[in-house]
Amino acid sequence: MKKEIIIASKNPGKIKEYQNALKDYKIISIIDLGIDLDIEEDALTFAENAKLKAKALYDIYHRPVIADDSGLVVNALRNELGVKSKRFSKSETDEDNNALLLEKLKSVKDRTAYFKSSICLYLSPQDIRIYEGKTLGKIIGEKRGRNGFGYDSLFLVDGLNKTYAELNLEEKHLVSHRGKAIEKLKKDLLDENTDF
Ligand code: IMP
Repeated sequence: MKKEIIIASKNPGKIKEYQNALKDYKIISIIDLGIDLDIEEDALTFAENAKLKAKALYDIYHRPVIADDSGLVVNALRNELGVKSKRFSKSETDEDNNALLLEKLKSVKDRTAYFKSSICLYLSPQDIRIYEGKTLGKIIGEKRGRNGFGYDSLFLVDGLNKTYAELNLEEKHLVSHRGKAIEKLKKDLLDENTDF
């Protein structure tokens, strides 16, 4: 039987990436649990937010939880996205977030950006682990690609000439911020000292 890990996410795009990358585990999302849990993500760093989300679920189920907080940092728009990437536009939809990003960068030359992901593995209050990944790129002038979620279609990966949205799940995993963090998590899950 597969070991079970709860993921503190309701984001179908994100959940899909975890289920695809951690096929040896049964990944149970907040949607699967059928609970109505809104966790305030008001910390200043991705890692602290990931910890907040993981703790909220661990406190209910007392079972291993992973949570990921991630976002886009656009160098010309410092402090506007980052931990607030989801709440960028008023409606908070991917569509409006992307439109606002294009609007704000309309006459901006420096379009460099990066995605960052922090994963918290919450095994117990005494055993809380953080894994991080970062991917550099730039924001292009119009959407490219149909895969993924969030800002994927506007983020051109450095050295690849493709946006995240032009990659399939496996390809995105190989280069993405989340993929890099998940690989570190995976290595730790397989370690004999990781007990769950
Ligand atoms: P959160 O980690 O669920 O708070 O997500 C923050 C926001 O960052 C998401 O709503 C997306 O807009 C964006 N984001 C995080 N990871 C990705 C990604 O892999 N691709 C595109 N957008 C992402």
